[in-house]
Amino acid sequence: MSARVLLVEDEPGLVMALSDLLTSEGYTVETATDGDTAAAKAASEPFDIIVLDVMLPGKSGFDVCRELRQQGKDVAVLMLTARTQVADRVAGLKLGADDYLTKPFEPPELLARIEALLRRVKNNRTPVSRFQFGDVEVDFDKGEATKGGVPVSLAGKELELLRWLINNRGKVVSRNELLEGVWEYQPGVSSRTVDVHIAWLRQKLEDNPQNPRHIHTVRGVGYRFSP
Ligand code: CA
Repeated sequence: MSARVLLVEDEPGLVMALSDLLTSEGYTVETATDGDTAAAKAASEPFDIIVLDVMLPGKSGFDVCRELRQQGKDVAVLMLTARTQVADRVAGLKLGADDYLTKPFEPPELLARIEALLRRVKNNRTPVSRFQFGDVEVDFDKGEATKGGVPVSLAGKELELLRWLINNRGKVVSRNELLEGVWEYQPGVSSRTVDVHIAWLRQKLEDNPQNPRHIHTVRGVGYRFSP
């Protein structure tokens, strides 16, 4: 899965270095070099994480963070603060930042923080309890599904897999992510296991399993669910 990062930083050298770093790690990176642009982009485009410098032209990183939370955006926010300003860290966290990193930092530290934060946010995301697509209805809490009003029997792992795909609907989910998230790397479980379960889900839920409308294969990467 390629997470979308909004990098907000006004120092050109740092923008370039960090963009390159994040891009080379497989992230999709957008940048903003002032607070107002950052706020506008964050409000109108979906991001998984915002790396947000505090000292910016226009709105400060604090202002941007506060606005986002007031708008109900639950995107992960990693603040970049100056070494000397301890008060900044406290203020940032109070305003809804998820974590902060003190400048100057080493690139691996930034990557580690971003990874940890993305993982935390994903695990905390409220999973769907009921979902409807086509003529299929699934109640994950009860573990029940129907297609065209007729009950369909889904095994535990099929339900979990379906829930994971639906929670990430519209996004490509890699086999590795599914192995980690759904199977928690149980011994003996391989990407073949994922493919087999996908095939079963299609068999049970798609009108034409050979030409699926909801559970799509993304060649060489994984799967994508579209309602
Ligand atoms: Ca700055």
